[in-house]
Amino acid sequence: MSDMLALTFDRSREDWATSTGLVKERVPVPTLIDPQDGQDRSQCIIKVKYAGFCGSDRGIWWRKAFGDMILGSLDEEGRDKRVVGHELLGEIVEVGARVGPKYNLKPGDIVSTESHIICGACYQCRMGDTHVCARDKIIGISMDGCFAEYIKLPAKSLWPTDLSKIRPEVAAVQEPFGNAVHACSATDLRGKTVAILGTGTIGLFAVLIARGMGASKVIGVEVNPHHVAMAKALGCDEVLTPALPPPDRPWASDPALRERVLELTDGVGVDVAMEMAGFNSSFNNALKVVRRGGQVVAFGVKNGDAQIEDFHRVVMNGVRIHGIVGRQIFRTWEITRNLLENTSNGIQEAIWRVILNEGRGTLVDIRDWERASFERMISDHPKVVIRFAG
Ligand SMILES: [Zn+2]
Ligand SMILES: [Zn+2]
Repeated sequence: MSDMLALTFDRSREDWATSTGLVKERVPVPTLIDPQDGQDRSQCIIKVKYAGFCGSDRGIWWRKAFGDMILGSLDEEGRDKRVVGHELLGEIVEVGARVGPKYNLKPGDIVSTESHIICGACYQCRMGDTHVCARDKIIGISMDGCFAEYIKLPAKSLWPTDLSKIRPEVAAVQEPFGNAVHACSATDLRGKTVAILGTGTIGLFAVLIARGMGASKVIGVEVNPHHVAMAKALGCDEVLTPALPPPDRPWASDPALRERVLELTDGVGVDVAMEMAGFNSSFNNALKVVRRGGQVVAFGVKNGDAQIEDFHRVVMNGVRIHGIVGRQIFRTWEITRNLLENTSNGIQEAIWRVILNEGRGTLVDIRDWERASFERMISDHPKVVIRFAG
């Protein structure tokens, strides 16, 4: 076989600034050019089974994010076309000569992948902080991705997955689930009161994980009624709806939200506030609902400057702020596997039943993929999975 179905952005066809969406087309199948020598010795060809559509893919779809990284990497490669997608479950079908001896992987193995391909040589990598590698490449953004029937990936990034323990549609979203695991591992949540501000996909995962890690109370903060209902179904004790900030002060927190959180925490505030919406007002809400000496996990992102209200309060209350990006490789993946394979915590079942709605409206086969209906799917559901094979 020499070509395959893929979802792509092509700058010779679409202008980044004026277009939206992705195009389904046939592109060449990636190959190991010399499996015995050079870089390809440590690479694999993977037949994609399922691929998750991420929040960052939404950013690409609407051209709101990652334009610089996609266009810049295409410049470097002297190419026009990028295959998008980075949340993967697939089967290894071909390996370079070093893959077996060095990584213990072989054709037939089922794998997911870490989406940040780290350099292994920069200061951060050498210090073990590989999630902030200074020279990483991101699958589906700065190299070709997994919205395709086949993908070529380095063996060092692959994560073997046992499909007798994790259903494939859930196994395909281990990477974004891992984002939430990383965010929930930034502090010790055992016995703690936790507020999760923004229950989009990662926030919903975080509700499950905070529960699974032993938080004593989980308070959601969300405006979208569909997501409010899901956050409750996944185990939030309360889901509060914040007032939106006035247009002339878009950064402003909601004093009534702070009052409600204080009521729910014996007047103390939460031990941990996790900001997962990315709005300036939401970050200030996180700073206002956290207790003195508490911790804020900053996960949601937005480009540009932000304004901090009552900055002196952050210092004088001894609040600690953690910026969280990506996953710790592979520590986060180990915890992800344990949380998903241990079915007694109900997490895997809840992802399938509530977040993936048992596949109804959330699962599409690439052969049936059609732009307009897919756009409706990604606006109606927090997580959509594309089936490529089996
Ligand atoms: Zn993602
Ligand atoms: Zn590095």
